[in-house]
Amino acid sequence: MSRKFDYDVLIIGGGPTGVTLASLLARRDVRVMVAEKEAEIFPLPRAAHIDHEGMRILQEAGAVEAVMATSRRADRYEFRNARGNLLLCFDGAEKIGPGGWPVANMIHQPSVEAALRSALAEQQNAELRSQWEMLSFEDDGEGVTANFLTPDGERVVRARYLVGADGARSPVRKACNIAFEDLGFEEPWLVVDVMVDDPSRLPGANLQICDPARPTTCVLMGEGRHRWEFMILPGEKPEELSEDSSIARLLAPWKVKGAVRIERKAVYTFRARIAQEWRKGRIMLAGDAAHQTPPFAGQGLCSGLRDASNLAWKLAAVIHAEADDALLDTYQPERAPNLRATIDMAIMMGRMVCTTSRIGAAIRDLKFRLARMLGKLPDGPPAYPPISAGAVRAGSPAAGSYFPQLIANDGTRLDDVLGSDAWLINRHDCDQGRLSPFASDLLSWFDYHSAEAVLVRPDRHVFATGSADQLKLEWKTISAKELMERQ
Ligand SMILES: Cc1cc2nc3c(=O)[nH]c(=O)nc-3n(C[C@H](O)[C@H](O)[C@H](O)COP(=O)(O)OP(=O)(O)OC[C@H]3O[C@@H](n4cnc5c(N)ncnc54)[C@H](O)[C@@H]3O)c2cc1C
Repeated sequence: MSRKFDYDVLIIGGGPTGVTLASLLARRDVRVMVAEKEAEIFPLPRAAHIDHEGMRILQEAGAVEAVMATSRRADRYEFRNARGNLLLCFDGAEKIGPGGWPVANMIHQPSVEAALRSALAEQQNAELRSQWEMLSFEDDGEGVTANFLTPDGERVVRARYLVGADGARSPVRKACNIAFEDLGFEEPWLVVDVMVDDPSRLPGANLQICDPARPTTCVLMGEGRHRWEFMILPGEKPEELSEDSSIARLLAPWKVKGAVRIERKAVYTFRARIAQEWRKGRIMLAGDAAHQTPPFAGQGLCSGLRDASNLAWKLAAVIHAEADDALLDTYQPERAPNLRATIDMAIMMGRMVCTTSRIGAAIRDLKFRLARMLGKLPDGPPAYPPISAGAVRAGSPAAGSYFPQLIANDGTRLDDVLGSDAWLINRHDCDQGRLSPFASDLLSWFDYHSAEAVLVRPDRHVFATGSADQLKLEWKTISAKELMERQ
């Protein structure tokens, strides 16, 4: 097959994962096209939360200011039982997380997607084509040729690589015959988003009401909106429960009549699944196409953003002939353990909330009371495991860990200063030049890890620590791109 390439990377799916990946690639001089089958951004209720790492990725994609402008922070995230007693509580959403942004940001997904699309529109190397439905594709070993149904008839596009960011039903995954591993969670819920007319009558905390008679979620969203989620109980008909009169009944205990108006509603079956293969030849899966998590930890979209961040620099390095195609094989071993930890946490929270047996709920409450008395309750979600296998030099201190985005006294963020390539930072350069506003935090980091120099990958995970010369040599096994010491 000798037909030239129309693009370097063809992304199927213009959801948050696909559009973010396109932005990160275009910013690295990769020619990219996103094909989206729908005319408009998906309008139904979905993500309400993005964490600090997700915001850092939106920063690189050029969308973070727009998202921050309308996002909100909840006072706390509380799990309460039917009597209103506190089982578990996480606070500190306002605190700045290692990603350099507030720990938990409540958002409206279509607004986030609109911000991502505006940022993408500014990139000359990228095109987003709406109403382009991918029908089929073929990987011939040298590239991928895909066929589309478009408003102007059928079209063919050829690219070096294809990424299926085409959501939970992923036609790309199906065409590749990749099966899901089922992680054993399946619960149907009704999700109701409202417009808020009187915010003073709404809770300031995010709430999980672990009431076996009706497990319920109530969370903030982006400015002017709030969300309730109600578990659909065995024997109930989703379409009946979704009627406005039923929703009014479900909302009655919250005493918000006159304070809110229903904007949109949807029924979902919350699932936990992970694709068995994330790469097949020149095809890769990302976002919901590769994994799905119940939403109790607010991590589905965040995980898709992390996939995009992990894939973007690797695809760019391979396309610019700075790295071998084998670098792409590190994508799944690096990302899948992170996903399993994320999904495990969401399932743990989901099981806690979705208990419909009164006896089961009483035992759960007792366990939590005991854990509280013994001081054994977690005060925040567990940290995700560092990358242990892939493009890291495992064994050196901090290898695979997440490198924080430091903030200078004047509010300047490290990523904005050092840019999107890999960073080689020497301990003895910390108080010089562009690094000096971050010197004290950087030195604390070096002290904590007893390190002389650090090599931070473009997705802000530590490749390794050691001497600068040794790190330069070792990085050459990953990428031939010249590595500049940051000052
Ligand atoms: C109720 C609920 C609450 C949630 N809460 C959170 C939360 O608080 N935080 C969080 O991080 N996540 C949350 N999520 C998850 C989050 O919404 C998803 O993980 C996220 O939307 C996945 O993004 P994606 O881009 O991978 O897939 P999608 O957003 O599904 O995008 C895939 C796109 O591919 C397109 N497509 C499909 N087939 C084709 C084709 N053949 N050709 C062209 N295009 C195609 C689709 O039209 C779609 O636009 C929640 C989800 C739900 C349902």
